[in-house]
Amino acid sequence: MFRALMLEKNEAFQASLKQVDEAALPPGDVTVQVAYSTLNYKDGLAICHKSPVVRVWPMVAGIDGAGTVTESSHPAWKVGDPVVLNGWGVGETHWGCLAEKARLKGDWLVRLPSGFTPRQAMAIGTAGYTAMLCVMALERHGLQAGQGEVLVTGASGGVGSVAVALLSALGHRVVASTGKAAEHEFLRRLGAAEVIERSALSEPGKPFQKERWSAVVDTVGSHTLANALAQTRYGGAVAACGLAQGMDLPTTVMPFILRNVALLGVDSVMAPLALRQQAWDRLARDLKPDVLESLTEEIGLDQAIDKAADLMAGRVRGRVVVKI
Ligand code: NDP
Repeated sequence: MFRALMLEKNEAFQASLKQVDEAALPPGDVTVQVAYSTLNYKDGLAICHKSPVVRVWPMVAGIDGAGTVTESSHPAWKVGDPVVLNGWGVGETHWGCLAEKARLKGDWLVRLPSGFTPRQAMAIGTAGYTAMLCVMALERHGLQAGQGEVLVTGASGGVGSVAVALLSALGHRVVASTGKAAEHEFLRRLGAAEVIERSALSEPGKPFQKERWSAVVDTVGSHTLANALAQTRYGGAVAACGLAQGMDLPTTVMPFILRNVALLGVDSVMAPLALRQQAWDRLARDLKPDVLESLTEEIGLDQAIDKAADLMAGRVRGRVVVKI
């Protein structure tokens, strides 16, 4: 038997900690003893049943995890290997990692980068790895330090806080947008040169505005993304990965056709293995361990349901690791 955060939908939705029989684990060629998982925005949505994240019932929650291989019939993995899992529908269509055990596909796993403990890998988690994917997308578009200001929206959240830390460590002048007045100092400590109020971007705005940003990491979508596009400088780029404000995008073609602005979509769930490996290698190089620790809070599995509600209510800053 093992402990798991189980999501069930019979008469009504229920999230609870349960003892589960190992025989019930889904098919897969690698079994992992999970050491740490995390709470990402998508975990919050799933655990609080806020949107249709879970598509197979019952479901063990947890879209990512880090731990040790305990059984493997996959050629790449042997017992004792330290691994990291992000995405691939885990916690959505395949039982997840907010549990002591997970049975996964070996093709989904990334080796724990040397220099990271499982706890640090999950302090980064899907949110931090997505932040790195955003930075890499902007760099592929040509972003270099010294080109101007880089805006990060939803900056006090998981993706946002890691993006602020990464971009400032890479030498960019980072402007952080937040709705939390109490987190301005936190964002400055992470490396933000300036902090602006979320409301400056989240209200409906003109399709074409004064140019300011050389690049943007947007985690919130909707009017915020529309305004960020309208304020991006000629030839700049916006990496869009989130929908915390909304999934709509009330914009026009003006920034694209008159300022050559690029909108770069970023998905972490189905990202190819080589890109994942590259992102984790870059995180090991570019994210300072003390900065990571400063944006991380640790909880136990028995606190995960309450914390997921806090995350959905906007009462969490930075990253939450779950010690299994
Ligand atoms: P968090 O909940 O940690 O952070 C979201 C942040 O968005 C909040 O902290 C808040 O920041 C801001 N925010 C919340 N509500 C609103 C609102 N109504 N209007 C404007 N801003 C708001 O979530 P994560 O950082 O984990 O995820 C951020 C987004 O990225 C989510 O939408 C998530 O689904 C998405 N995501 C996408 C991935 C992908 O593969 N594309 C992978 C991982 C995440 P503040 O108070 O500082 O303004």
